[in-house]
Amino acid sequence: MESIVLYPAPDRGHLISTVELAKLILSQKPSLTIHIIVINPPIKLGSTAPYISAVSATVPSIKFHHLPTVSMDPNSYPNSLAIMFDHFRLVNPHVADLLRSLYRDFTVRCLIIDLFCFPALEIASELNIPAYYFFTSGASCLAVFLHLPNLYETTSQNFNDLHTTFLNLPDFPPIPLSHMPVPILFRNNPECLYFIECAANLKKSAGIIVNSFESLEQKAVKLLSSSSSREGFCIPDSTVPPVYCIGPLTTTTSQTGANMHECMTWLDTQPSRSVVFLCFGSMGLLSKQQLQEIAFGLERSQQRFLWVVRNPPSDNQSKDPMNQPDPDLDLVLPSGFLDRTSSRGLVVKSWAPQVTVLSHISIGGFVTHCGWNSVLESILAGVPMVAWPLYAEQKLNKAFLVEELKLALPMNSEPERGELVSAAEVEKRVIELMDSEEGDSVRKRVVKKRDEAIAALSHGGSSRVALAKLAESWVRN
Ligand code: UDP
Repeated sequence: MESIVLYPAPDRGHLISTVELAKLILSQKPSLTIHIIVINPPIKLGSTAPYISAVSATVPSIKFHHLPTVSMDPNSYPNSLAIMFDHFRLVNPHVADLLRSLYRDFTVRCLIIDLFCFPALEIASELNIPAYYFFTSGASCLAVFLHLPNLYETTSQNFNDLHTTFLNLPDFPPIPLSHMPVPILFRNNPECLYFIECAANLKKSAGIIVNSFESLEQKAVKLLSSSSSREGFCIPDSTVPPVYCIGPLTTTTSQTGANMHECMTWLDTQPSRSVVFLCFGSMGLLSKQQLQEIAFGLERSQQRFLWVVRNPPSDNQSKDPMNQPDPDLDLVLPSGFLDRTSSRGLVVKSWAPQVTVLSHISIGGFVTHCGWNSVLESILAGVPMVAWPLYAEQKLNKAFLVEELKLALPMNSEPERGELVSAAEVEKRVIELMDSEEGDSVRKRVVKKRDEAIAALSHGGSSRVALAKLAESWVRN
Protein backbone atom coordinates (compact mmCIF):
# COMPACT_ATOMS: atom_id res chain seq x y z
CA MET A 1 0.00 0.00 0.00
CA GLU A 2 1.12 3.55 -0.72
CA SER A 3 0.83 6.50 1.53
CA ILE A 4 1.40 10.22 1.54
CA VAL A 5 1.98 11.87 4.88
CA LEU A 6 0.82 15.41 5.50
CA TYR A 7 2.11 17.27 8.51
CA PRO A 8 0.17 20.49 9.17
CA ALA A 9 0.62 23.12 11.85
CA PRO A 10 -1.82 22.59 14.70
CA ASP A 11 -4.09 25.61 14.23
CA ARG A 12 -7.45 25.40 12.47
CA GLY A 13 -6.59 27.55 9.44
CA HIS A 14 -3.51 25.49 8.47
CA LEU A 15 -5.18 22.18 9.34
CA ILE A 16 -8.27 22.84 7.21
CA SER A 17 -6.39 23.79 4.06
CA THR A 18 -4.06 20.79 4.52
CA VAL A 19 -7.04 18.45 4.81
CA GLU A 20 -8.43 20.02 1.63
CA LEU A 21 -5.11 19.26 -0.06
CA ALA A 22 -5.44 15.64 1.11
CA LYS A 23 -8.92 15.46 -0.39
CA LEU A 24 -7.63 16.89 -3.66
CA ILE A 25 -4.80 14.35 -3.82
CA LEU A 26 -7.30 11.58 -3.10
CA SER A 27 -9.48 12.79 -5.96
CA GLN A 28 -6.43 12.50 -8.20
CA LYS A 29 -5.32 9.11 -6.83
CA PRO A 30 -8.35 7.46 -5.25
CA SER A 31 -6.41 4.27 -4.52
CA LEU A 32 -4.06 5.98 -2.06
CA THR A 33 -4.45 5.75 1.67
CA ILE A 34 -3.45 9.11 3.01
CA HIS A 35 -2.22 9.50 6.53
CA ILE A 36 -2.51 12.90 8.07
CA ILE A 37 -0.44 13.48 11.12
CA VAL A 38 -2.20 15.81 13.49
CA ILE A 39 -0.14 17.31 16.21
CA ASN A 40 -1.81 17.05 19.57
CA PRO A 41 -0.07 19.83 21.47
CA PRO A 42 -0.22 20.32 25.24
CA ILE A 43 -1.71 23.77 24.61
CA LYS A 44 -4.30 23.53 21.87
CA LEU A 45 -4.55 26.33 19.33
CA GLY A 46 -8.31 26.42 19.03
CA SER A 47 -10.59 23.43 19.04
CA THR A 48 -9.87 21.14 16.10
CA ALA A 49 -11.56 17.98 17.46
CA PRO A 50 -15.07 18.56 15.97
CA TYR A 51 -13.52 19.30 12.58
CA ILE A 52 -11.35 16.16 12.70
CA SER A 53 -14.39 14.04 13.65
CA ALA A 54 -16.39 15.50 10.76
CA VAL A 55 -13.61 14.71 8.26
CA SER A 56 -13.05 11.20 9.65
CA ALA A 57 -16.76 10.47 9.31
CA THR A 58 -17.02 11.74 5.73
CA VAL A 59 -13.62 10.83 4.21
CA PRO A 60 -12.51 7.57 5.88
CA SER A 61 -9.42 7.23 3.66
CA ILE A 62 -7.91 10.20 5.45
CA LYS A 63 -6.44 8.89 8.70
CA PHE A 64 -5.48 11.18 11.53
CA HIS A 65 -2.54 10.17 13.65
CA HIS A 66 -2.33 11.86 17.01
CA LEU A 67 1.20 12.22 18.24
CA PRO A 68 1.89 11.69 21.93
CA THR A 69 2.03 14.90 23.93
CA VAL A 70 5.35 16.29 25.12
CA SER A 71 6.21 17.84 28.42
CA MET A 72 6.12 21.64 28.21
CA ASP A 73 5.37 24.37 30.71
CA PRO A 74 3.26 26.94 28.81
CA ASN A 75 3.99 29.55 31.46
CA SER A 76 7.66 29.56 30.56
CA TYR A 77 6.93 30.90 27.05
CA PRO A 78 6.15 34.53 26.15
CA ASN A 79 3.34 33.75 23.70
CA SER A 80 1.46 31.07 21.75
CA LEU A 81 3.86 31.29 18.80
CA ALA A 82 6.86 30.52 21.02
CA ILE A 83 4.97 27.50 22.39
CA MET A 84 4.10 26.28 18.92
CA PHE A 85 7.64 26.69 17.57
CA ASP A 86 9.30 24.89 20.48
CA HIS A 87 6.68 22.22 20.26
CA PHE A 88 7.78 21.33 16.70
CA ARG A 89 11.29 20.60 17.93
CA LEU A 90 10.15 18.61 20.97
CA VAL A 91 7.68 16.51 19.05
CA ASN A 92 10.10 15.68 16.25
CA PRO A 93 11.31 12.33 17.73
CA HIS A 94 7.66 11.18 17.66
CA VAL A 95 7.34 12.26 14.04
CA ALA A 96 10.52 10.26 13.36
CA ASP A 97 9.03 7.16 15.07
CA LEU A 98 5.87 7.49 13.02
CA LEU A 99 7.63 7.91 9.69
CA ARG A 100 9.99 5.00 10.40
CA SER A 101 7.09 2.70 11.26
CA LEU A 102 5.13 3.78 8.17
CA TYR A 103 8.23 3.33 6.08
CA ARG A 104 8.43 -0.32 7.19
CA ASP A 105 4.84 -1.11 6.14
CA PHE A 106 4.08 1.25 3.25
CA THR A 107 5.61 2.89 0.23
CA VAL A 108 5.73 6.45 1.55
CA ARG A 109 5.47 8.48 -1.66
CA CYS A 110 6.23 11.78 0.01
CA LEU A 111 6.01 13.88 3.12
CA ILE A 112 4.20 17.21 2.80
CA ILE A 113 4.94 19.60 5.63
CA ASP A 114 3.78 23.01 6.78
CA LEU A 115 6.22 25.92 6.72
CA PHE A 116 6.75 25.64 10.47
CA CYS A 117 7.41 21.87 10.56
CA PHE A 118 10.92 21.91 9.06
CA PRO A 119 12.54 19.78 11.81
CA ALA A 120 10.85 16.84 10.02
CA LEU A 121 12.96 17.46 6.88
CA GLU A 122 15.91 15.69 8.47
CA ILE A 123 13.94 12.50 9.05
CA ALA A 124 12.60 12.54 5.49
CA SER A 125 16.11 12.90 4.18
CA GLU A 126 17.39 10.05 6.38
CA LEU A 127 14.61 7.75 5.08
CA ASN A 128 14.97 9.01 1.53
CA ILE A 129 11.37 10.20 1.42
CA PRO A 130 10.89 13.24 -0.86
CA ALA A 131 9.73 16.20 1.22
CA TYR A 132 7.46 18.94 -0.11
CA TYR A 133 6.06 22.02 1.55
CA PHE A 134 2.43 23.00 1.57
CA PHE A 135 2.53 26.80 1.75
CA THR A 136 -0.86 27.90 3.09
CA SER A 137 -0.49 31.53 2.01
CA GLY A 138 -0.12 33.00 -1.49
CA ALA A 139 2.64 32.88 -4.12
CA SER A 140 3.57 36.55 -3.60
CA CYS A 141 4.05 35.91 0.08
CA LEU A 142 6.11 32.80 -0.75
CA ALA A 143 8.45 34.88 -2.91
CA VAL A 144 8.99 37.27 0.00
CA PHE A 145 9.57 34.41 2.43
CA LEU A 146 12.18 32.85 0.13
CA HIS A 147 13.94 36.21 0.12
CA LEU A 148 13.71 36.69 3.91
CA PRO A 149 16.95 34.97 5.01
CA ASN A 150 18.86 37.18 2.59
CA LEU A 151 16.98 40.29 3.69
CA TYR A 152 17.67 39.46 7.33
CA GLU A 153 21.42 39.40 6.60
CA THR A 154 21.37 42.81 4.91
CA THR A 155 20.60 44.77 8.08
CA SER A 156 21.35 44.71 11.78
CA GLN A 157 18.26 46.77 12.58
CA ASN A 158 14.85 45.48 13.59
CA PHE A 159 12.50 45.30 10.61
CA ASN A 160 9.98 46.92 12.90
CA ASP A 161 11.94 50.20 12.69
CA LEU A 162 12.45 50.17 8.91
CA HIS A 163 9.46 52.18 7.75
CA THR A 164 11.25 53.77 4.79
CA THR A 165 13.36 50.82 3.62
CA PHE A 166 11.46 48.86 1.02
CA LEU A 167 11.33 45.32 -0.24
CA ASN A 168 12.99 45.26 -3.60
CA LEU A 169 11.74 42.28 -5.57
CA PRO A 170 11.21 42.64 -9.34
CA ASP A 171 7.66 43.74 -10.16
CA PHE A 172 6.56 43.75 -6.52
CA PRO A 173 4.91 46.72 -4.81
CA PRO A 174 7.40 48.67 -2.63
CA ILE A 175 6.50 47.20 0.75
CA PRO A 176 8.23 48.74 3.80
CA LEU A 177 10.26 46.21 5.81
CA SER A 178 8.20 47.16 8.87
CA HIS A 179 5.35 45.30 7.13
CA MET A 180 7.16 41.96 7.23
CA PRO A 181 5.51 39.07 9.14
CA VAL A 182 5.01 39.86 12.81
CA PRO A 183 7.28 37.11 14.24
CA ILE A 184 10.36 38.60 12.54
CA LEU A 185 9.89 42.27 13.37
CA PHE A 186 12.32 42.05 16.32
CA ARG A 187 15.47 40.23 15.27
CA ASN A 188 16.63 39.02 18.65
CA ASN A 189 13.40 37.24 19.57
CA PRO A 190 13.77 33.45 19.47
CA GLU A 191 10.56 33.36 17.36
CA CYS A 192 12.31 35.53 14.76
CA LEU A 193 15.24 33.14 14.47
CA TYR A 194 12.94 30.14 14.18
CA PHE A 195 10.91 31.89 11.49
CA ILE A 196 14.01 32.76 9.46
CA GLU A 197 15.08 29.12 9.75
CA CYS A 198 11.62 28.11 8.45
CA ALA A 199 12.09 30.40 5.45
CA ALA A 200 15.65 29.19 4.81
CA ASN A 201 14.52 25.56 4.76
CA LEU A 202 11.91 26.12 2.05
CA LYS A 203 14.53 25.78 -0.65
CA LYS A 204 15.71 22.40 0.67
CA SER A 205 12.48 20.70 -0.40
CA ALA A 206 11.58 18.76 -3.54
CA GLY A 207 8.79 21.23 -4.29
CA ILE A 208 6.46 23.83 -2.81
CA ILE A 209 2.70 23.43 -3.14
CA VAL A 210 0.91 26.78 -2.90
CA ASN A 211 -2.72 27.44 -2.04
CA SER A 212 -3.27 29.89 -4.87
CA PHE A 213 -3.91 29.92 -8.62
CA GLU A 214 -1.71 31.26 -11.36
CA SER A 215 -3.91 34.01 -12.75
CA LEU A 216 -4.39 35.51 -9.28
CA GLU A 217 -0.67 36.11 -8.76
CA GLN A 218 0.85 36.15 -12.23
CA LYS A 219 3.89 38.29 -11.39
CA ALA A 220 4.83 36.25 -8.35
CA VAL A 221 4.33 32.97 -10.23
CA LYS A 222 6.60 34.27 -13.01
CA LEU A 223 9.25 35.37 -10.52
CA LEU A 224 9.13 32.01 -8.72
CA SER A 225 9.37 29.99 -11.91
CA SER A 226 12.22 32.08 -13.30
CA SER A 227 14.02 31.75 -9.94
CA SER A 228 13.48 28.03 -10.16
CA SER A 229 15.05 27.82 -13.63
CA ARG A 230 17.47 30.74 -12.92
CA GLU A 231 16.33 32.53 -16.06
CA GLY A 232 15.24 36.17 -16.14
CA PHE A 233 14.54 38.08 -12.91
CA CYS A 234 15.32 35.90 -9.91
CA ILE A 235 14.86 36.12 -6.18
CA PRO A 236 18.33 37.20 -4.97
CA ASP A 237 20.41 34.43 -3.40
CA SER A 238 17.67 31.88 -3.41
CA THR A 239 17.35 28.72 -5.42
CA VAL A 240 13.68 27.92 -5.67
CA PRO A 241 12.36 24.36 -5.97
CA PRO A 242 9.46 23.69 -8.36
CA VAL A 243 6.33 25.57 -7.27
CA TYR A 244 2.83 24.09 -7.76
CA CYS A 245 -0.14 26.48 -7.48
CA ILE A 246 -3.00 24.04 -6.95
CA GLY A 247 -5.62 26.28 -5.32
CA PRO A 248 -7.75 27.92 -4.29
CA LEU A 249 -8.52 25.32 -1.64
CA THR A 250 -11.12 26.31 0.92
CA THR A 251 -13.08 24.15 3.28
CA THR A 252 -15.55 21.69 1.78
CA THR A 253 -16.33 20.03 5.11
CA SER A 254 -19.64 21.57 6.07
CA GLN A 255 -19.59 23.71 9.19
CA THR A 256 -21.85 21.93 11.68
CA GLY A 257 -25.10 23.82 12.10
CA ALA A 258 -23.90 26.66 9.83
CA ASN A 259 -27.26 27.09 8.15
CA MET A 260 -28.99 27.17 11.52
CA HIS A 261 -26.78 29.93 12.90
CA GLU A 262 -28.79 32.99 13.97
CA CYS A 263 -26.85 35.16 11.53
CA MET A 264 -28.02 33.10 8.54
CA THR A 265 -31.70 33.54 9.36
CA TRP A 266 -31.03 37.25 9.88
CA LEU A 267 -29.21 37.47 6.52
CA ASP A 268 -32.26 35.88 4.86
CA THR A 269 -34.26 38.97 5.82
CA GLN A 270 -31.78 41.49 4.32
CA PRO A 271 -31.78 42.89 0.76
CA SER A 272 -29.42 41.44 -1.81
CA ARG A 273 -25.76 42.56 -1.52
CA SER A 274 -26.61 45.07 1.20
CA VAL A 275 -24.66 43.79 4.22
CA VAL A 276 -21.01 44.36 5.07
CA PHE A 277 -19.48 41.45 7.01
CA LEU A 278 -16.72 42.15 9.54
CA CYS A 279 -14.70 39.20 10.80
CA PHE A 280 -11.08 39.05 11.93
CA GLY A 281 -10.01 35.41 11.71
CA SER A 282 -9.42 32.91 14.46
CA MET A 283 -6.91 35.03 16.36
CA GLY A 284 -7.92 38.63 15.75
CA LEU A 285 -8.47 40.24 19.15
CA LEU A 286 -9.20 43.98 19.14
CA SER A 287 -8.95 46.33 22.11
CA LYS A 288 -12.12 47.73 23.68
CA GLN A 289 -11.18 51.17 22.32
CA GLN A 290 -10.88 49.72 18.81
CA LEU A 291 -14.22 47.90 19.10
CA GLN A 292 -15.85 51.18 20.10
CA GLU A 293 -14.33 53.03 17.12
CA ILE A 294 -15.68 50.32 14.79
CA ALA A 295 -19.11 50.58 16.40
CA PHE A 296 -19.26 54.36 15.97
CA GLY A 297 -17.97 54.08 12.39
CA LEU A 298 -20.58 51.45 11.48
CA GLU A 299 -23.34 53.44 13.10
CA ARG A 300 -22.45 56.62 11.22
CA SER A 301 -22.02 54.77 7.91
CA GLN A 302 -25.74 53.90 7.96
CA GLN A 303 -24.83 50.63 6.19
CA ARG A 304 -26.22 47.22 7.10
CA PHE A 305 -23.65 45.07 8.88
CA LEU A 306 -22.93 41.66 10.36
CA TRP A 307 -20.05 41.88 12.83
CA VAL A 308 -18.25 39.09 14.68
CA VAL A 309 -17.03 40.53 17.99
CA ARG A 310 -14.45 38.73 20.11
CA ASN A 311 -13.28 39.52 23.61
CA PRO A 312 -10.55 42.19 23.80
CA PRO A 313 -7.12 40.86 24.85
CA SER A 314 -6.32 40.99 28.54
CA ASP A 315 -3.31 40.08 30.67
CA ASN A 316 -4.90 37.24 32.57
CA GLN A 317 -6.30 35.38 29.56
CA SER A 318 -5.00 32.03 28.39
CA LYS A 319 -2.14 32.21 25.87
CA ASP A 320 -4.33 30.66 23.20
CA PRO A 321 -5.93 33.53 21.28
CA MET A 322 -8.32 31.05 19.64
CA ASN A 323 -9.81 29.87 22.93
CA GLN A 324 -11.26 32.98 24.51
CA PRO A 325 -14.50 33.35 26.45
CA ASP A 326 -17.45 35.05 24.71
CA PRO A 327 -17.49 38.84 25.11
CA ASP A 328 -20.04 40.68 27.23
CA LEU A 329 -21.35 42.97 24.48
CA ASP A 330 -22.80 45.48 26.95
CA LEU A 331 -19.32 45.93 28.40
CA VAL A 332 -17.29 46.17 25.20
CA LEU A 333 -19.60 48.11 22.84
CA PRO A 334 -20.75 51.73 23.27
CA SER A 335 -23.81 52.17 25.43
CA GLY A 336 -27.03 51.90 23.38
CA PHE A 337 -25.20 50.85 20.16
CA LEU A 338 -27.03 47.54 19.78
CA ASP A 339 -30.46 49.15 20.24
CA ARG A 340 -29.73 52.05 17.91
CA THR A 341 -28.54 49.76 15.11
CA SER A 342 -30.87 46.79 15.65
CA SER A 343 -32.90 47.51 12.50
CA ARG A 344 -29.89 47.16 10.22
CA GLY A 345 -27.09 45.42 12.07
CA LEU A 346 -26.33 42.16 13.85
CA VAL A 347 -23.44 41.48 16.21
CA VAL A 348 -22.55 37.84 16.86
CA LYS A 349 -20.23 36.73 19.61
CA SER A 350 -16.83 35.14 18.85
CA TRP A 351 -17.53 33.07 15.73
CA ALA A 352 -19.71 32.95 12.61
CA PRO A 353 -19.76 30.29 9.86
CA GLN A 354 -17.72 32.52 7.53
CA VAL A 355 -17.77 30.44 4.34
CA THR A 356 -21.54 30.07 4.52
CA VAL A 357 -21.96 33.76 5.38
CA LEU A 358 -19.79 34.97 2.51
CA SER A 359 -21.77 32.96 -0.02
CA HIS A 360 -25.10 34.42 1.16
CA ILE A 361 -26.76 36.67 -1.42
CA SER A 362 -27.19 39.51 1.13
CA ILE A 363 -23.46 39.93 1.67
CA GLY A 364 -22.03 42.83 -0.36
CA GLY A 365 -18.62 43.39 1.23
CA PHE A 366 -16.11 41.93 3.70
CA VAL A 367 -13.87 43.76 6.16
CA THR A 368 -11.16 41.15 6.66
CA HIS A 369 -7.92 40.72 8.61
CA CYS A 370 -6.38 39.35 5.36
CA GLY A 371 -5.74 35.81 6.60
CA TRP A 372 -5.11 33.90 3.38
CA ASN A 373 -8.04 31.49 3.85
CA SER A 374 -10.37 34.45 4.34
CA VAL A 375 -9.00 36.11 1.20
CA LEU A 376 -9.58 32.98 -0.92
CA GLU A 377 -13.03 32.44 0.59
CA SER A 378 -13.97 36.02 -0.29
CA ILE A 379 -12.69 35.68 -3.85
CA LEU A 380 -14.56 32.41 -4.35
CA ALA A 381 -17.74 34.08 -3.11
CA GLY A 382 -17.13 37.10 -5.40
CA VAL A 383 -17.18 39.49 -2.41
CA PRO A 384 -15.03 42.68 -2.46
CA MET A 385 -12.86 43.38 0.58
CA VAL A 386 -11.55 46.07 2.87
CA ALA A 387 -8.10 44.96 4.06
CA TRP A 388 -7.38 45.39 7.76
CA PRO A 389 -4.31 43.28 8.61
CA LEU A 390 -3.67 42.33 12.22
CA TYR A 391 -0.99 39.65 12.62
CA ALA A 392 1.20 37.03 10.88
CA GLU A 393 1.90 37.87 7.18
CA GLN A 394 -1.30 39.89 6.78
CA LYS A 395 0.33 43.25 6.03
CA LEU A 396 2.00 41.61 3.02
CA ASN A 397 -1.35 40.20 1.92
CA LYS A 398 -2.89 43.66 2.27
CA ALA A 399 -0.20 45.20 0.04
CA PHE A 400 -0.79 42.59 -2.69
CA LEU A 401 -4.58 42.83 -2.44
CA VAL A 402 -4.76 46.62 -2.42
CA GLU A 403 -1.76 47.80 -4.48
CA GLU A 404 -1.21 44.98 -6.90
CA LEU A 405 -4.49 43.12 -7.42
CA LYS A 406 -6.92 45.90 -6.48
CA LEU A 407 -9.29 43.36 -4.96
CA ALA A 408 -9.54 45.29 -1.70
CA LEU A 409 -9.70 48.84 -0.39
CA PRO A 410 -7.29 49.72 2.40
CA MET A 411 -8.30 50.32 6.02
CA ASN A 412 -5.66 52.73 7.26
CA SER A 413 -4.57 52.80 10.89
CA GLU A 414 -2.89 55.63 12.79
CA PRO A 415 0.63 54.59 13.89
CA GLU A 416 0.81 57.53 16.34
CA ARG A 417 -2.30 56.12 18.09
CA GLY A 418 -0.91 52.58 18.44
CA GLU A 419 -2.26 51.48 15.02
CA LEU A 420 -5.81 52.44 16.02
CA VAL A 421 -8.29 52.68 13.14
CA SER A 422 -10.57 55.66 13.75
CA ALA A 423 -14.36 55.63 13.55
CA ALA A 424 -14.09 58.12 10.67
CA GLU A 425 -11.89 55.72 8.68
CA VAL A 426 -14.27 52.79 9.32
CA GLU A 427 -17.22 54.92 8.23
CA LYS A 428 -15.43 56.14 5.09
CA ARG A 429 -14.20 52.71 3.96
CA VAL A 430 -17.44 50.89 4.63
CA ILE A 431 -19.38 53.46 2.57
CA GLU A 432 -16.71 53.32 -0.16
CA LEU A 433 -16.95 49.53 -0.29
CA MET A 434 -20.73 49.28 -0.25
CA ASP A 435 -21.86 52.41 -2.03
CA SER A 436 -19.35 53.95 -4.43
CA GLU A 437 -18.01 53.53 -7.94
CA GLU A 438 -14.65 52.52 -6.53
CA GLY A 439 -16.30 49.78 -4.45
CA ASP A 440 -18.19 48.62 -7.51
CA SER A 441 -14.96 48.38 -9.53
CA VAL A 442 -13.36 46.30 -6.79
CA ARG A 443 -16.39 44.00 -6.81
CA LYS A 444 -16.17 43.54 -10.58
CA ARG A 445 -12.48 42.62 -10.32
CA VAL A 446 -13.19 40.11 -7.53
CA VAL A 447 -15.99 38.52 -9.56
CA LYS A 448 -13.58 38.18 -12.50
CA LYS A 449 -11.02 36.50 -10.24
CA ARG A 450 -13.73 34.18 -8.90
CA ASP A 451 -14.46 33.06 -12.45
CA GLU A 452 -10.75 32.57 -13.09
CA ALA A 453 -10.46 30.56 -9.87
CA ILE A 454 -13.27 28.27 -10.96
CA ALA A 455 -11.59 27.86 -14.37
CA ALA A 456 -8.22 27.08 -12.71
CA LEU A 457 -9.86 24.28 -10.74
CA SER A 458 -11.76 22.86 -13.71
CA HIS A 459 -10.59 20.13 -16.08
CA GLY A 460 -7.53 21.45 -17.98
CA GLY A 461 -7.27 24.51 -15.69
CA SER A 462 -3.89 25.68 -14.37
CA SER A 463 -4.39 24.27 -10.87
CA ARG A 464 -5.45 20.85 -12.20
CA VAL A 465 -2.42 20.80 -14.51
CA ALA A 466 -0.14 21.75 -11.59
CA LEU A 467 -1.62 18.96 -9.48
CA ALA A 468 -1.03 16.42 -12.24
CA LYS A 469 2.61 17.59 -12.53
CA LEU A 470 2.99 17.27 -8.77
CA ALA A 471 1.65 13.71 -8.82
CA GLU A 472 4.05 12.89 -11.68
CA SER A 473 6.97 14.18 -9.62
CA TRP A 474 6.09 11.72 -6.83
CA VAL A 475 6.27 8.84 -9.26
CA ARG A 476 9.65 10.09 -10.57
CA ASN A 477 11.02 10.55 -7.07
N1 UDP B 1 -13.48 31.54 10.47
C1 UDP B 1 -14.83 31.30 10.61
N2 UDP B 1 -15.52 32.07 11.48
C2 UDP B 1 -14.97 33.08 12.21
C3 UDP B 1 -13.58 33.31 12.05
C4 UDP B 1 -12.87 32.53 11.17
O1 UDP B 1 -15.41 30.40 9.98
O2 UDP B 1 -15.70 33.73 12.96
C5 UDP B 1 -12.71 30.69 9.54
C6 UDP B 1 -12.53 31.35 8.19
O3 UDP B 1 -13.60 31.03 7.32
C7 UDP B 1 -11.20 30.80 7.72
C8 UDP B 1 -10.44 30.52 9.00
O4 UDP B 1 -11.40 30.50 10.05
O5 UDP B 1 -11.39 29.57 7.04
C9 UDP B 1 -9.44 31.61 9.29
O6 UDP B 1 -8.33 31.42 8.47
P1 UDP B 1 -7.49 32.63 7.92
O7 UDP B 1 -6.35 32.07 7.15
O8 UDP B 1 -8.35 33.59 7.21
O9 UDP B 1 -7.01 33.37 9.21
P2 UDP B 1 -6.31 32.87 10.57
O10 UDP B 1 -7.43 32.63 11.52
O11 UDP B 1 -5.53 31.63 10.24
O12 UDP B 1 -5.50 34.04 10.93
